[in-house]
Amino acid sequence: MSLKFSVGDLTIHRIIEQETTFLPALDMFPGLAPDALAEHRTWMKQAGALDDSDTLILAFQSYIVKTPHHTILIDSCIGNDKPRPNRPNWNMKTDDTYMRGLAAAGFSVGDIDYVMCTHLHVDHVGWNTRLENGRWVPTFPNARYVFDKTEFDYWTETNGKTEVPPFRDSVLPVVEAGKSEIVRNDFAIGDHARILPTPGHTPGHAAFTFGRGKDDAVFSGDLMHSPIQTLFPELSPKFDVDQAQAAKTRRSFLERYCGTDTLCCTAHFPSPSAGRIKRKGNGFVCEMA
Ligand SMILES: [Zn+2]
Repeated sequence: MSLKFSVGDLTIHRIIEQETTFLPALDMFPGLAPDALAEHRTWMKQAGALDDSDTLILAFQSYIVKTPHHTILIDSCIGNDKPRPNRPNWNMKTDDTYMRGLAAAGFSVGDIDYVMCTHLHVDHVGWNTRLENGRWVPTFPNARYVFDKTEFDYWTETNGKTEVPPFRDSVLPVVEAGKSEIVRNDFAIGDHARILPTPGHTPGHAAFTFGRGKDDAVFSGDLMHSPIQTLFPELSPKFDVDQAQAAKTRRSFLERYCGTDTLCCTAHFPSPSAGRIKRKGNGFVCEMA
C-alpha cells in the first residue's frame, strides 16, 4: 500500500486512522439506483470501495505535505477520547493507530507547521485537539491552524443554535489557544499552498492545491467520497449540505484536473486514495497512483 508520494518538490505522506465500512451505498447516495449499483458492483469491490453487503468502504486519513519550507498536515481525522455516540467506531476511542502512523512517517507532533482543514466535519478536525488533564489542547503545539472564514462562520452560527460537539471540542479550543488563522480564499502559504473554493458538501468547503507555479497535487477533501462519484459526478451523498451545488462543484473540479498530471489526493477513497483524473464516458475515473 502506498503511503508516500513524490510530486514536483513535494513529498506527501498518508496517515491512516481507519479504513473500514461506513454506510450502505444506496443509503449514502439517494440518487443511486439499485440496478446502477449492480452494474458497477464488480469494479467497486475490486477497488476496495464496496463490501459483500453493498456497504461502502472509506479511508479516514490525514495527509502530510512537506514543501521545501514547511510541513503541512491536511485534515486531522477522528481523534481520541471524543464523545461521538452516533458512531461506535469513533466514540471515545483510545487507540494509538494515528500517532503510530505519524511516527512511522517520520514526524512528531512538534514538526507540523500548519494544520489545514478542508471543512469542519467530525472526521476532519478530530486530532486538532487532544485531552490533557481534562482540557482540550492543540495536538500540534507549533502549528498554525487554518480555517476558511465562510466555513468557520457557518459552524459558529450552527453551533450557536444547537451545540455541535466536534466544533466545541476540536475547533474552538484551537481558536481560544490563539493558534488559528481564519482565512479567505486568497490565502497562501509561500508559493506552495493555495485554497480552491469547492462549496456544496459544506458552505465553506475548500480544496487545497500545492506546487510552485502549478498544481502538482490537490487535496479534494469531501467534495467526493467514493470512486463511483467520479463516474457519476452528479451523485451527491445525503449529507452534502447543498446537494445541487456539490454536484456542480464535483463536475467542475473533475473537469479542471482531467488529463493533467496533478495528483488528486482524496480524503476517503480506498487505499491508495490518490491518483490522476481521466475522462471516461460522460464522467471520469481517478486512476490510482
Ligand atoms: Zn469526511
